[in-house]
Amino acid sequence: MKVLVTNDDGIFAQGLWTLVKALKNIAEVIVVAPDREQSGIGTAVTLRQPLRTHRVNPLVPEVEAYSVEGTPADSVILGLTKLAENNIDLVVSGINPGANLGDNVLISGTVGAALQGYLHGLPAIAVSVDAWDSPRLDTAAELATLLAKKIESNRLPSNIFLNVNLPNLPLAQIKGLEITRLASRSHTDEVEEGYDGKQVYYRLIRQTVDKTVDNKTDIWAMEQGHISITPLQTTLVSNPSPLIPDGLFSELLQELQKH
Ligand code: MN
Repeated sequence: MKVLVTNDDGIFAQGLWTLVKALKNIAEVIVVAPDREQSGIGTAVTLRQPLRTHRVNPLVPEVEAYSVEGTPADSVILGLTKLAENNIDLVVSGINPGANLGDNVLISGTVGAALQGYLHGLPAIAVSVDAWDSPRLDTAAELATLLAKKIESNRLPSNIFLNVNLPNLPLAQIKGLEITRLASRSHTDEVEEGYDGKQVYYRLIRQTVDKTVDNKTDIWAMEQGHISITPLQTTLVSNPSPLIPDGLFSELLQELQKH
């Protein structure tokens, strides 16, 4: 099995190399990751600038590693198509310090990187731990490795895209493992206003909504001290959408033709 490992925290992040060290016990690993921190960049890809890659000294011996002057998604695209020459069986992204839950998966660089693997037809796993400071990485790395083995042995389907979040607890205190769905309306954007001496500026502050969340959502699982595994799909809307009334499209077309 050959695994491409990436992240959104930059190639020398501790979370990435903890993951690499664990995965290397069961698979061949290639690291392709951004040359700098890019948390919150989501699924962004770089289309208007050239992308350069650099071979770097790995922090785990005998691992091929490349930094990319681009986004997490760029890294996966280049890794899959050029650096690993279409030879990858699984993409794993992380380990991110800070959970990626609910609506936040849409702006998460960690999830955005895994998404590229999924869009290229590969199984993909995003892994995060619910702590900014000193996240406990070992259990997360071990779980990712176990999931990789389940994929390799076909216990999990190859077209799977998993968003994995762990509470920042010692293994003995983790209460369980839940298959969850994304919590909805999970975050708000506060806007802070400041003045730099010349101009007003704004600062966006993204916060988790403080509310009782539904059972079996990812945020609920974190609050309960459970590991959360959310199977993701790229279908954002149901088709045909039940929210759009019958006849609206012909109405719109008629109105358009009157102009
Ligand atoms: Mn990050």
